Amino acid sequence: MTAICDLAAIEAMDAADALGPMRERFVLPDGLVYLDGNSLGVASSAAFRELQTAASEEWGQDLIRSWNTAGWFDMPLELGDRVGRLIGAAAGQTVVCDTTSINIYKALHAAMALRPDRSVIVTEGGSFPTDIYMAEGVVSTRPGASLRLEGIDAPTIEELIDGDVAVVLVNHVNYKSGELRDMATLTKKAHEHGALVIWDLCHTAGALPVDLDGANADFAVGCTYKYLNGGPGAPAFVYAATRHHGDIRQPLSGWWGHARPFAFEKHYAAGQGIRRFLCGTQPILSMRALKGALDIWDEVDMAALRQKSLGLTDLFIALVEDRCAAHGLELESPRDRAKRGSQVSFSHPHAYEIMQALIARGVIGDFRAPSTMRFGFTPLYVSYVDVWRAVEILDEILRTGAWQDARFAVRSAVT
Ligand SMILES: *Cc1c(COP(=O)(O)O)cnc(C)c1O
Repeated sequence: MTAICDLAAIEAMDAADALGPMRERFVLPDGLVYLDGNSLGVASSAAFRELQTAASEEWGQDLIRSWNTAGWFDMPLELGDRVGRLIGAAAGQTVVCDTTSINIYKALHAAMALRPDRSVIVTEGGSFPTDIYMAEGVVSTRPGASLRLEGIDAPTIEELIDGDVAVVLVNHVNYKSGELRDMATLTKKAHEHGALVIWDLCHTAGALPVDLDGANADFAVGCTYKYLNGGPGAPAFVYAATRHHGDIRQPLSGWWGHARPFAFEKHYAAGQGIRRFLCGTQPILSMRALKGALDIWDEVDMAALRQKSLGLTDLFIALVEDRCAAHGLELESPRDRAKRGSQVSFSHPHAYEIMQALIARGVIGDFRAPSTMRFGFTPLYVSYVDVWRAVEILDEILRTGAWQDARFAVRSAVT
């Protein structure tokens, strides 16, 4: 431990970090240690420029012509391919649109329709809740359909997969613990039973490399406002493997997914390929901010990103356990780096208050009920010295009991 407890050694890690200069591209308030890019990624100058151009020139001056002249109409597919590179999807299989919740709905129905003789959806009891809620919604609209939950109907997801299962909806990285699943192995297991898999990549896209095509995945969904830095409410993405394209039906059959939207035909005819996952008009200003964010991602080598991510999370765990051992924090994330996404969670009975005290001192993470403090590590703009500073401040809050101030117990709507 002595080596990493030395600030000079940590400054040397930043000096040697090839991704270090990327931080300049982001708009980060001075002195802020931002460890919440797994909830809302940081703005970039590139995103602001895109927003400005889209608003003042394209909307402001060119108006309706911009659908053609500024490429607005094709943006969901163009940006989809750029997200695709980050998640191991060859071109033509990913489209940016709607929200993750809505894309889960579309993908679940599409998967169920591909397995008409089966009625069961399997997902995780410990999933980010919207995934479960959307699965419940799908079940409620399909007579005879039912839901099996890991942790409730059986301890592991693998035990729930049999010949009745149409589709498995599963997170690659758990939102709370940061635990990583083996995509290729679970996909293979589901396929052996004839089931399809939808991978939720909300905590994967922009956090670590993943190979959807290589794992033979069927579908995937994910959001772009977390690690991808697309901005608050930026549109999500949905992936479907090419082999399914001809047969995919999804129920939100709006005109943007039509084969000939501007023919204004009387009846729906599904568009070619991944385009059929589109529904209606997309939020172009949000798409443009995402485009700016993806301009930065185009330059990023995902293997280098993963190396730094693991360096940051390893350092955070080591420093917290060294400095704060006496204060009852328990590691909730995998100690084994190979099983860890790009976040670290610690539990504590007063996690909420401690997190508020951290935020008041400029270290931003978040709280997940009932007792988790979650820290996201985003290698494009978080430095090793940020990790050091965060732990210094955490240690101070715990040692002095500063978190016991009554104002830190007041709960906000968004935690
Ligand atoms: C963040 C997150 C979502 C968010 O869904 P929205 O529809 O964009 O609000 C969904 N699933 C998981 C696993 C998430 O982490």
